[in-house]
Amino acid sequence: MNELTFGVDDFKVIAGPCSIEDYESLYETAKDLKARGITMLRGGAYKLRTSIHSFRGLGDVGIMHMAQVGNELGLITVSEVTQTDKVEYMAKHIDILVVGTRNMHNYPLLELLGKIDKPVILKRGIAATYDEWLAAAEYIMESGNERVILCERGIRTFERETRYTLDISAIAMIKSKSKLPIIIDPSHAAGDRTLVPSLALAAIAAGADGLMIESQLNPKDSICDASQTVSPDVISMILSLAPELRSLTKKANF
Ligand code: PEP
Ligand code: MN
Repeated sequence: MNELTFGVDDFKVIAGPCSIEDYESLYETAKDLKARGITMLRGGAYKLRTSIHSFRGLGDVGIMHMAQVGNELGLITVSEVTQTDKVEYMAKHIDILVVGTRNMHNYPLLELLGKIDKPVILKRGIAATYDEWLAAAEYIMESGNERVILCERGIRTFERETRYTLDISAIAMIKSKSKLPIIIDPSHAAGDRTLVPSLALAAIAAGADGLMIESQLNPKDSICDASQTVSPDVISMILSLAPELRSLTKKANF
């Protein structure tokens, strides 16, 4: 298991597949991402899918694959916890637990995550206001865990051509209301890999503390969310532009 510092001045990119599909593909993708400077690997094992007929993840076996790949490559592991009876198991094997958009209002889950010694990424509900999102974060913090990272992943609007609408305003608004770090997930917001670089770069320029991006060696073959998954070279391009964009943002002092 790996240690983590996720501070405001410590810009991080989390990358990896939507879902853990098998050990080999996770390992190969992770190795490639690591060679490009990525230190944090994402991948879901319990997938909450709209259709019961879709692939719903490898479950506990997926978590074992993730923990093993993380240990072998020295990567920080990031994965979504979907139910209260998995909190203890996941906290034992995974470095950062994620609350997905569907569970932002799951208060019993949030309270339990307040009792673990692991950072928690709290994704914004698709229809949650800033105050509702921050109130959800408070459930975790008031229960004893201050290490909460907010993640904007797009909200539902009238626009149907993108999967959701990335709310860039969230970065400045959340920073004015809270001291919590905020990262951006351009993948779920866009639903389309061709849009991911521009949304990611916009987020960096707007002062985001990090990004979470779905990436696989063979994006089009991804079982889950293939259309929004980018290849690792896109991550390299984003990483190469990040320092310059960040320094411009710092100069502008927001
Ligand atoms: C995910 O990150 O894999 C995911 C399902 O995201 P969201 O909860 O934002 O839909
Ligand atoms: Mn996904």
